[in-house]
Amino acid sequence: AAWRGDTGDIVYASEELMAEKDRFMQIRAQFPVGLKNREFLVFYQPKINLKDNSIAGAEALSRWYRNGTLMMPTEYISDLEQTMDICKLDFYVLEQVCRDLRRWLDEGRQAVRISVNFSRRHLINLALTESILEVVDRYRIPHELIEIELTETVTDVEFRDLKRVAGALQEAGIYTSVDDFGIGYSSLNLIREIPWNILKVDKNFLPVNENAEGERQNIMFRHVVSMAKEIGLICVAEGVETIGQVNILRKCGCDLAQGFYYDKPLPVKEFEERLDKHFYTNT
Ligand code: C2E
Ligand code: MG
Ligand code: MG
Ligand code: MG
Repeated sequence: AAWRGDTGDIVYASEELMAEKDRFMQIRAQFPVGLKNREFLVFYQPKINLKDNSIAGAEALSRWYRNGTLMMPTEYISDLEQTMDICKLDFYVLEQVCRDLRRWLDEGRQAVRISVNFSRRHLINLALTESILEVVDRYRIPHELIEIELTETVTDVEFRDLKRVAGALQEAGIYTSVDDFGIGYSSLNLIREIPWNILKVDKNFLPVNENAEGERQNIMFRHVVSMAKEIGLICVAEGVETIGQVNILRKCGCDLAQGFYYDKPLPVKEFEERLDKHFYTNT
């Protein structure tokens, strides 16, 4: 197939690429409508305190309820990052989180810290921290109840912005976490140079049930946890799926666990039931 591209040149592409472009254009065109019609939902995945099995917090994850089906973030996040629309979505999620937190506080529920993913696309925004605080303060949310998760894969230029943003958020008492630790490019540099409160170890680096092949993986995990703890970071294991993993996490001194073993990301009503129960009974 052929069409005229952005530069006016004729572009030739395979059917596959055409279908991909179609899909992208659809997401791009439907996003403003979806946002306006409140098609984006916030799901909450609990984070469990490994010491006493209580709910320590949750991660807010978006879902797009579109044409009768629930679209997962992997189907739209990277497209929205290309167009910068992701910034609008992240603030929409933050606002919904603050609204829910405000309601939980008003209802006398025990509020827990909620984390929101913020794309690296925000980093060029010099007013980012002010904009986040504007939302949080408008709902009168204590700053320590909000955590901003920033992913570790950033370019050199973004690195400086990341340092500035993480510092400013921390100064304001908002928690910051480095997401997906282990799978990026400059992990150690990032830990050394940037102030964080929380380290989220990616599921690919979690301990596996003890066996010969798992040994190296488990040793690495144990040392990542002790490094994090010694420099004063809260350590979260994400993608925890088995009791075997939970046992090793405890032995390693990991603080919090998040994963299907405890719960999938939950619609708000179901999450509220967990909040009220407060303790998990598995293990
Ligand atoms: P993430 O921030 O690393 O979030 C954790 C992802 O791991 C979630 O996928 C969650 O459902 C999944 N997960 C949790 N526990 C387990 C487990 O035990 N096993 C396995 N296999 N997976 C588990 P989800 O919800 O599909 O989100 C994917 C990614 O999309 C997120 O990764 C996050 O980076 C991004 N994302 C989601 N919502 C938003 C958003 O509103 N804004 C931005 N900027 N990114 C978002
Ligand atoms: Mg995350
Ligand atoms: Mg993330
Ligand atoms: Mg992650």
